[in-house]
Amino acid sequence: MNKKLSDKKYDVVVVGGGIVGLASAYAAVKKGLSVAVVERHSQNKDASVRNFGFVTVSGQRRGEHWQRAMHSRNVWAEVAPKAGIQVEHSGLHMLMQRPEAMDVAEAFLKTEMGEDCKLLTQSEIDDVAPYLKKGQGVFYSPHELRVESHSAIGKLAHWLKEAQGVDFYNQTSVTSIELPNVYTSRGVLSAEHCVVCPGTDYSSLYPDLLATTKARMCTLNMMRVKPKQAFTLNAAVMSDLSFARYDGFAQLPEADALKNLLDDIQSEERQAGVHLIVVQSEDGSLIIGDSHDYSDRELPFRDTRIDDLILNEFYQVMDIGDVDITQHWLGVYPSADDVVFKASPEAGVVVGSVTGGTGASTGFAFGEELIEMVLESK
Ligand SMILES: Cc1cc2nc3c(=O)[nH]c(=O)nc-3n(C[C@H](O)[C@H](O)[C@H](O)COP(=O)(O)OP(=O)(O)OC[C@H]3O[C@@H](n4cnc5c(N)ncnc54)[C@H](O)[C@@H]3O)c2cc1C
Repeated sequence: MNKKLSDKKYDVVVVGGGIVGLASAYAAVKKGLSVAVVERHSQNKDASVRNFGFVTVSGQRRGEHWQRAMHSRNVWAEVAPKAGIQVEHSGLHMLMQRPEAMDVAEAFLKTEMGEDCKLLTQSEIDDVAPYLKKGQGVFYSPHELRVESHSAIGKLAHWLKEAQGVDFYNQTSVTSIELPNVYTSRGVLSAEHCVVCPGTDYSSLYPDLLATTKARMCTLNMMRVKPKQAFTLNAAVMSDLSFARYDGFAQLPEADALKNLLDDIQSEERQAGVHLIVVQSEDGSLIIGDSHDYSDRELPFRDTRIDDLILNEFYQVMDIGDVDITQHWLGVYPSADDVVFKASPEAGVVVGSVTGGTGASTGFAFGEELIEMVLESK
């Protein structure tokens, strides 16, 4: 379709209205550029709204990726109040259920990533996390934020449109790019630069380039539960399985003993990629998850045995009585050995994908990188 969708010529057209696309749009408007976002659906309905809204710093892969998370966390803190996004709670409590997890936490605290983190005293635990079961102790990180992603993404898009002058073309698919033309299902846009943030769509634009990531589509089980007794969660909660899973902890040599132990005593959880994240919403309900099926199948069928493993871990960690499950859903993200992928297939075009399931935590920093890269590519 060659009719014009707009008479404007944009400095940057962003393909994809997930967190990575919105973060790229924000990075571009901060540079004074004119920006449009093209989104296939009426608004994102994929990973960016299906996640925990858990902006995680401690546990991200050491080095550049941890720094991306720390920077993105600061951008979330700055943007959230302006965009009317509530931060539901801050920080992270990790219940160390076994001595081997304590060894990992102590090793982590000695690294540069451990700055401002600490092990809580028993009286601090009684004070701030009385709802955790007794374990070896509790590791505390102050950096994390939690936003309600299913509404935050819409609010962020609305704020970018109303306050930052970004144009949105929703229910519009980008079908090909030959700059200055960006061809869409509803007409042609004109752009100096184009940033493609396709989420899990590795087949529509630059499929051969995206295939070089060797990413597999990873499917996760998630639930919302309502505690029978009301309580306030003061920080996100994780457990030993997370120390063994999150690169920032799990890649420390001290984590080997914990991983070996859990492979033995929680083999089903380890095989299903189950670990525990608990976050709370404004109405008191909790989002809990998750699991990781790397089979690349993206099947819509939810295996309830996986939910049972997640719930079992939840009850091992949380001392809040019974909960009712009120929602189940699946989410998908691309997963590869490298935690992000960015490449410029041609002058003026950049393709970017978070391939480590951490886009809520690292998207704002990654968006800045994509904009720098696309401006340098031409
Ligand atoms: C269940 C689950 C839990 C998670 N938990 C966390 C967490 O707690 N913390 C964290 O940091 N990360 C988490 N993640 C990962 C995080 O959600 C993702 O890394 C992030 O949302 C990816 O954002 P994105 O913008 O790349 O992709 P997406 O959210 O998939 O968005 C891509 C968008 O691009 C659009 N699009 C694609 N191609 C086109 C085209 N040709 N034309 C127009 N539009 C197009 C799609 O419609 C879609 O809206 C989780 C992921 C899942 C699935």
